Amino acid sequence: MSQCAKCLMDSEVGGIEFNENGICNYCEEFDILINANPAGEKGQLLIDKVVGEMKTIGKNKSYDCVVGVSGGTDSTYLLYILKNLGLRPLAVHFDNGWNTEIAVSNIKNAVTILDIDLFTYVVNWEEFKDLQLSFLKASLPEVEIPTDMGIRAILYKIAVKEGVKHVISGNSFRAEGIVPQGWGYKDGKLLEGVQKIFGTQKLKTFPNLLLFKYLYYVYLRKIKIVRILNFMDYSKEEAKKLIIKELDWQDYGGHHFESIYTRFFQGYLAPVKFNMDRRKVTMSALVRLGKLDRDEALKLLTEEIYSPEMKKEDMQYISKKLGIGFDEFVGIIGAETKSFHEYPSYYPLMKKLTPILNWMNKKKILSGFFQTGKFSR
Ligand SMILES: [Zn+2]
Repeated sequence: MSQCAKCLMDSEVGGIEFNENGICNYCEEFDILINANPAGEKGQLLIDKVVGEMKTIGKNKSYDCVVGVSGGTDSTYLLYILKNLGLRPLAVHFDNGWNTEIAVSNIKNAVTILDIDLFTYVVNWEEFKDLQLSFLKASLPEVEIPTDMGIRAILYKIAVKEGVKHVISGNSFRAEGIVPQGWGYKDGKLLEGVQKIFGTQKLKTFPNLLLFKYLYYVYLRKIKIVRILNFMDYSKEEAKKLIIKELDWQDYGGHHFESIYTRFFQGYLAPVKFNMDRRKVTMSALVRLGKLDRDEALKLLTEEIYSPEMKKEDMQYISKKLGIGFDEFVGIIGAETKSFHEYPSYYPLMKKLTPILNWMNKKKILSGFFQTGKFSR
């Protein structure tokens, strides 16, 4: 096994290549993103510009932007930032049935203290449960696709309803790193395809995001996704300290341990079943930025984050909640691993379009809407 000379990514990570200095392509991509998304003074100028745009468009509307909230660090901190920038955001929560009490109270505290309106979308549980089971049966390394796609679709939908042109995202490549494509690929056709193969129900209410709908939101409605944290020297640790102090925020311990389902995914499915330890990605980002010592990070990677007792407890809870027997659940999660290439998706189409999209990005025509880099690998 070979490992990048700079970060923690190694030859077990899909799509990895090393240059003559032993540095991986994810580090190279990270440098490209650093140049394209400056922090500090330059970043502040870019933030001021987009904030000005939002205020102008929002003048005679109830809100300037919409923002998804989960009760986690990033989205809670984002609310604080938006409010301090003088914006009037509408907070939107996608309740998929797996919320912990801590997450719910974190959201409630933040919107109350900051005086922000909250809209909660509650999924049709019977339908959503079936969709989640379909994704477990599909044996893909990203089991949160239904939630991720649902949030995206709802945010666009509400933006249209409120006449808002900016959806603010809590993503930050500085804090999250670059997730390899095979670890987290998702699109509306993949969701539909997996449900058709494994599902027992037709999706009647679930807000999927198919390509034509996406194009409608982006090109006709001109709705932009703004990743404001990308233009800041964002640190999760600092953010946590601030929201604990200012917004009565409670830590739930562990990265993404805000829901039992997510905890089981991050603690067991991803790192053990699929050999895709997300900590490798996030810690690599911190190592590249000099915020974490590489040797210390390598040591942290070997630490156990999820005990066998917790795993068993979570599996019992999840199978019960999904309405299947424990043994059936064990059978489903024990199935052979698959890749998204084995299912229908927009990937082949997007790959074909890559040269055109790259050209458009170069000419700055609708740039930034498609992350073409992901399709060139
Ligand atoms: Zn690297």
